[in-house]
Amino acid sequence: MGPLTNPRKVVVLGSTGSIGLSTLSLFEESGAPVEILALTAGRNVERLIEQALRWRPQVAVIEDETKLQQLKDGLAGTGVRAAAGASAINEAAAMGADWVMSAIVGAAGLAPTLAAARTGAVIALANKESLVCAGPALLAIAKAAGGSVIPVDSEHSAIFQVLQPDCAHRVSRLILTASGGPFRTWDKAAMAAATPEQAIAHPNWSMGAKISVDSATMMNKGLEMIEASYLFGTPEDRVNVVIHPQSVIHSLVEYADGSTLAQLGAPDMRPPIACAFAWPDRLPWPAKRLDLAAYGQLTFESPDLDRFPSIEIAREALRLAGAAPAVMNAANEVAVAAFLDRRIGFLDIAASVAGTLERMNSLGTLSATDNDDAVENAMMIDASARRIAAEVVAQKHRGR
Ligand code: NAD
Ligand code: MG
Repeated sequence: MGPLTNPRKVVVLGSTGSIGLSTLSLFEESGAPVEILALTAGRNVERLIEQALRWRPQVAVIEDETKLQQLKDGLAGTGVRAAAGASAINEAAAMGADWVMSAIVGAAGLAPTLAAARTGAVIALANKESLVCAGPALLAIAKAAGGSVIPVDSEHSAIFQVLQPDCAHRVSRLILTASGGPFRTWDKAAMAAATPEQAIAHPNWSMGAKISVDSATMMNKGLEMIEASYLFGTPEDRVNVVIHPQSVIHSLVEYADGSTLAQLGAPDMRPPIACAFAWPDRLPWPAKRLDLAAYGQLTFESPDLDRFPSIEIAREALRLAGAAPAVMNAANEVAVAAFLDRRIGFLDIAASVAGTLERMNSLGTLSATDNDDAVENAMMIDASARRIAAEVVAQKHRGR
């Protein structure tokens, strides 16, 4: 893309969520030259109307079709078109933006992210689940269309920034930092009784409900290991995780000579979004500066794989390859929804994911199929994994 002075055509997928809000807040605070083509949301029509009145996109799209009339009424007389449904979101993603923020939560983000990738746009990727479901296909489609995928997830943004392109073959390890989540110091009995409210109360970051639960189980780090492996072409055994409760060091790259480069910042998603927006330039904006002396000390520890088995489950999914990462992701989405619905306990989340992977492995449905269409494949795998996961979750629910 050209210099930052040229107005940039932008689409924000998932504009009403935590990352969507951070994106619009960054535009507001930086005065970045943007022309917003589309804003999209799942169900939060009130917030979408508010955002559309402020930003005046060409179109505002709500996934929930029952809310279309409310959206139309809220935008009447503004010239902003109102649309609804999953296919309207895909159309918004493919409107021909220069830059698309992919910030829908879950595998629901896959189709619109791919639609955007096919246009050759720069994809600022927060929606890690789409990479986990169909990483190689998504990256190949973006590349073939002349676009790129720039990670927004703070760990991957960190690695992206310290990875020297001409030295990528000399990387010996990627080290992802993890806050450890709200249950870092809890014993297993307390974790077994944890409520959704306790799981969502993240110590450092304010995020959507699903990723907050993922941080509590550490499946977030599992998803991120797969995300890192795909994005940077690094095999599973070279992706490490270290707990760093202050979330100041966002991740590290260790090179063959032992030199290790880190990227630091305050726990705020706007700097990684700014990086993805301006790359390889830098967006000037009044970001909160890092005051290391105020932290006093930064601490580190190894993850406890007994209390947080999700890290090993993700490693195993990466080793199994084929459909395993997509199955793991779908099972996790089903299990997290059941936990938030109080149908299963906190420790049942990881157990349900492991149970779904085992069941599908024994059915022989984890290996890659002959279907040439990797995307259609990922969608089919997602649907069948959700069916099996629902059964596994129902068993846990009955067993409580
Ligand atoms: P969120 O729940 O706050 O927001 C999700 C957005 O997606 C909302 O706009 C919602 O309306 C929309 N949405 C939900 N379901 C939809 C559907 N079926 N179809 C269309 N739109 C739908 O989530 P978030 O915390 O902003 O996270 C978004 C993504 O970014 C996730 O993949 C998450 O893992 C990733 N991420 C978030 C953070 C963070 O700090 N919040 C950090 C790193 C990565
Ligand atoms: Mg992250």
